[in-house]
Amino acid sequence: MEVLLALGSNLGNRQEILESAWQEIGRLPQTKALRISRFHKTLPVGGPPNQPEFLNAVCTVFTMLPPQILLEKLQEIEIRFGRVRTEHWGPRTLDIDILLYGNKIISTPALTVPHPEMLHRRFVLKPAQEIAADIVHPETGKTLREHNRFINQSD
Ligand code: ATP
Ligand code: CA
Ligand code: CA
Repeated sequence: MEVLLALGSNLGNRQEILESAWQEIGRLPQTKALRISRFHKTLPVGGPPNQPEFLNAVCTVFTMLPPQILLEKLQEIEIRFGRVRTEHWGPRTLDIDILLYGNKIISTPALTVPHPEMLHRRFVLKPAQEIAADIVHPETGKTLREHNRFINQSD
């Protein structure tokens, strides 16, 4: 199944963290790393004030891991990079979200896919557009290119 992931870091050597995380993702069992976007700098929205900028990227992988197992493996990678959860939306070394898992729609306590915020976040849609513009969002039926265009017209 082709999967779209979002990576973010706003603590430590953010570039190195995203690069290493991408390598780790490629080492997951039954998983092949496909493409990764450029790294985009984003000012943090919400959360506590005076946070450092985020570095965000989106990547595609092909995996045979079921969604819940994939989530657990990604959370292990987050922990390996020393993610410490102090305050909600506070600084974190590494955040990995599952944006899309093929065209599956998943709604469990642990996992909501498509990621409910992805269509409202420029820092997701812009990098996604670089590597996965033609992917169709399973709930809207629109491509990520269309969503990216739309969000850029909306202000
Ligand atoms: P947001 O999801 O709005 O970007 P966040 O990434 O800061 O917020 P976290 O604290 O990293 O949120 O994650 C909280 C929980 O969200 C995780 O423990 C996980 O079980 C759950 N979750 C639900 N859907 C997803 C998803 N699509 N990808 C990753 N985690 C998810
Ligand atoms: Ca997130
Ligand atoms: Ca997350």
